[in-house]
Amino acid sequence: METRKVYLDNSATTAVAEEVLNAMLPYFRESIGNPNSLHVWGRDARRAVDEARASVASLVGALPGEIIFTGGGSVSDNLAIKGAVWRAGEAKKHIITSAVEHHAVMDTFKWLAKKGCDVTFLPVDEYGLVSPESLASAIRSDTLLASVMYANNEVGTINPISQLGEICRERGVLFHTDAVQAVGHIPIDVSKIPVDMLTMSSHKMYGPKGVGALYIRKGIKLTPLVHGGGQEFGLYSGTENVPGIVGMGAGARITLKLLEDGEAGRVSSLRDLLLDGITSRIPDSFVTGHRTERLPYHASVCVRHIEGEGMLLRMDFAGIGVSSGSACTSGSLEPSHVLLAMGLDHATAHGSVRMTLGIDTTRDDIDYVLEKFPPIVETLRKMSPYKG
Ligand SMILES: *Cc1c(COP(=O)(O)O)cnc(C)c1O
Repeated sequence: METRKVYLDNSATTAVAEEVLNAMLPYFRESIGNPNSLHVWGRDARRAVDEARASVASLVGALPGEIIFTGGGSVSDNLAIKGAVWRAGEAKKHIITSAVEHHAVMDTFKWLAKKGCDVTFLPVDEYGLVSPESLASAIRSDTLLASVMYANNEVGTINPISQLGEICRERGVLFHTDAVQAVGHIPIDVSKIPVDMLTMSSHKMYGPKGVGALYIRKGIKLTPLVHGGGQEFGLYSGTENVPGIVGMGAGARITLKLLEDGEAGRVSSLRDLLLDGITSRIPDSFVTGHRTERLPYHASVCVRHIEGEGMLLRMDFAGIGVSSGSACTSGSLEPSHVLLAMGLDHATAHGSVRMTLGIDTTRDDIDYVLEKFPPIVETLRKMSPYKG
């Protein structure tokens, strides 16, 4: 019998959609120009970059001039945070973030702390939510910036971004959000929410890897990380990754269309089927993250007395691709900092599994996972060292 292949790791990366690939292809061999060149090849490439910028801008309700393309979500996070801190110089040295950020934000804050910034890490509740009250009480007169993720990559929890941004706006603090997991999957409109900077990544929304964007509200000034030819409004020098940028633009148009067509509703009912199926079939398992303030495609659970890595490997053998936390930390023996911040103990946190659905996920895929997952857990529990 042929093994079925079920990819449920769309939070780690998504496949490039066929329309995206088709949009990109001409920019490798035909429209080969450097957007900074004045001839027709250059003008064609410039037009393609401008069009992609407009597509990304309209996905999040921004003006095209407020979008800069970068080398990915990690680059955008670094540029937003370091760029704001370096621009402010010595005047304001207190910065705030949460305890559950992606490493691209978390490790940037830790590095800035070593370089002399005063950093506050906000706690989260059992669902992974950052409370507006804790942000409000952390703000001081020398606070420059707060960065709180829109939605968490490990547990799918969506933060009250509007309220958090409102508090920052009232107190004159810059507000950045890493929205990599949210953009293209839930409606976002920066013209209606008080966000100053917002990070996006192409490969989490059916575009290619190695390209991202940063929304920077008009009027906000940053110091660039990369100096050179002054591309991207002087904030990210280097010849533009034209095929990648074109791909990100196509990804933005596709996800906007999916949002309008109700894809979130389709995928969230499959997600609920998966979560309910797992927790009812596997004893001592529970959903991690918020049940309703949650990304539509995101399912994460903890299975007690089990090692997530072991589950991952056996699921892989059954043709199912899942993650045991964040892709960046899997392979290490440290349990997820997100689950620990949510109050789980080490042993329980080790039993976490994340399953993230995408446009290709079907009802049959979910049924297949619900057939394979419980017996895998049963087998592992029989040999588990955690069991008394
Ligand atoms: C994937 C991810 C990133 C990093 O984006 P890259 O484009 O891979 O650098 C940052 N933040 C979150 C929340 C992510 O999920």
